Amino acid sequence: MVIAIDGPAGAGKSSVARGLAGALGFTYLDSGAMYRCVAFTCLEWGADPEQSGEATSTAMSIEISFEGEEVLIDGVDVSEEIRSPEVTEAASRVAIHPGVREAMVTEQSRLIESGNYVAEGRDIGTVVSPGSPLKIFLTASPEVRAKRRAEQTGGDERDILVAQMERDKRDSDREHGALKTADDSVEIDTSDLALDEVVTKVADLARERGLA
Ligand code: C5P
Repeated sequence: MVIAIDGPAGAGKSSVARGLAGALGFTYLDSGAMYRCVAFTCLEWGADPEQSGEATSTAMSIEISFEGEEVLIDGVDVSEEIRSPEVTEAASRVAIHPGVREAMVTEQSRLIESGNYVAEGRDIGTVVSPGSPLKIFLTASPEVRAKRRAEQTGGDERDILVAQMERDKRDSDREHGALKTADDSVEIDTSDLALDEVVTKVADLARERGLA
């Protein structure tokens, strides 16, 4: 069973999904890390992230796995490398290609097939797990989201806001797996909420629905 947490960059998905998985004893799945792995490998191999064929064959050539907090490509820990601004930017470019998405969605579906998961991303409630019994769409104002990212990464808030707006646009405008709310999702604006308040809210919803 999957609890889906979707929303734009910086809305608090990772922290909320991690906290919720811990609170309910579920496994956490970071689907964005998988697109980052494809982008990282493209950059390493000199493949063009914009080019559908090159990005798709890269996606199909690597094995992505998770070990606790670690993200691995072909058994090598890349947890830190995939968080760089270059990889972040390239991730939203490779994520446009239907072939890349198909490879990632297939792998995500295989992972969540058994056990209880809290999965976060952009298309969990709409594409990866449309039958999910609890879909959350997290939002926050662009300024709050950029501020949070700047605090996490130490980057410049203004630069982050500009890059984030570009990324949001690419994620929302793409034809496949676009960032959008599922009809039956619960939308939570986290702008004025603390992390533990959001986790408690979602955990309460999960219990109300008999999921935990
Ligand atoms: O969530 P995160 O910021 O790590 O995701 C990086 C990029 O991966 C996003 O900007 C988005 O383009 C892509 N992504 C996606 N579908 C998902 C998760 C992430 O397209 N389910």
